[in-house]
Amino acid sequence: MRGFTYERVGDPAQAAAAASRPGARIIAGGTNLLDLMKLQVETPVHLVDISRLDLARIEDTPDGGLRIGAMVRNSDLAADRRVRERYGVLSRVLLAGASAQLRNKATTAGNLLQRTRCSYFYDITMPCNKRVPGSGCAALHGFNRMHAILGASDQCIATHPSDMAVAMRALDARVETIDADGKVRVIPIAEFHRLPGDTPHIETTLRAGEVITAVTLPPPPPGRQMYRKVRDRASYAFALVSVAAVVDTANGRIRSARIACGGIAPKPWRSEQAEAAMTDAPVGAQTFDAAATALLEGARGYGDNDFKIPLARRTLHAVLTEITRA
Ligand code: SF4
Repeated sequence: MRGFTYERVGDPAQAAAAASRPGARIIAGGTNLLDLMKLQVETPVHLVDISRLDLARIEDTPDGGLRIGAMVRNSDLAADRRVRERYGVLSRVLLAGASAQLRNKATTAGNLLQRTRCSYFYDITMPCNKRVPGSGCAALHGFNRMHAILGASDQCIATHPSDMAVAMRALDARVETIDADGKVRVIPIAEFHRLPGDTPHIETTLRAGEVITAVTLPPPPPGRQMYRKVRDRASYAFALVSVAAVVDTANGRIRSARIACGGIAPKPWRSEQAEAAMTDAPVGAQTFDAAATALLEGARGYGDNDFKIPLARRTLHAVLTEITRA
């Protein structure tokens, strides 16, 4: 690990000002950043510690939603009664992520900002456009079993590792930020994560020094909520394919649907096409097949991860079968 300076800040605007310095990085739970620093994937010259800020509350909003402070720990969020009762999909994704120890440290904002687990990104001897822009992508013709089948580019095929972000995407969360001037911004989560394109090292639409203060959830959508995560072992593993679904049915027909997937794309992958294929359609295998076909339009494997295409189809089909069961 290389040397760095350390600063503990007293309020979010001060954090933003400190984080605006060249080479500065914010640290909260540190569950990803410290690993990256030990491997010299990230080499900040200044660490801005926000862990003591008063951002760890979960509050009801006037419209019936929830405002989740940036520092709320994943385990606390999963256990919150309001989350369990109204946003069951969020509670379940959180409990499907990482390990109990990590969930006790990991924060809501940090979860959204965690970096990919592409093994070449973590190996500084290998080319990686995300780590060193312009150096190449070792995964394209390397071992790419965990990589994306949707939304990738010829510069980067990494997946986003978060479970929580998948549910946040299905629930239409909004990310609140503050900058060094104290200016507050609200970013819909659909616009928060970026696809790699030609700049895979730029992963979000956050501006330099901008600090996340909270994530807000609108009132829960109608219908049942479900999350299924397919992975290599039952815990402490990233998703090969995951599906977060919110589906409302009546009289054998689907009134509305929200489908978001993890493990298959560089960002939490909401499929409006799959949702459109289901809306107003009868509950049944034909509709579920149409949704899966819509989800996977344009999907592409890179060799080792070809299996994700049929796996995503089967996982979505299974989730829809279960969530619409009478
Ligand atoms: Fe780097 Fe992305 Fe290629 Fe992985 S997939 S080696 S993160 S550029």
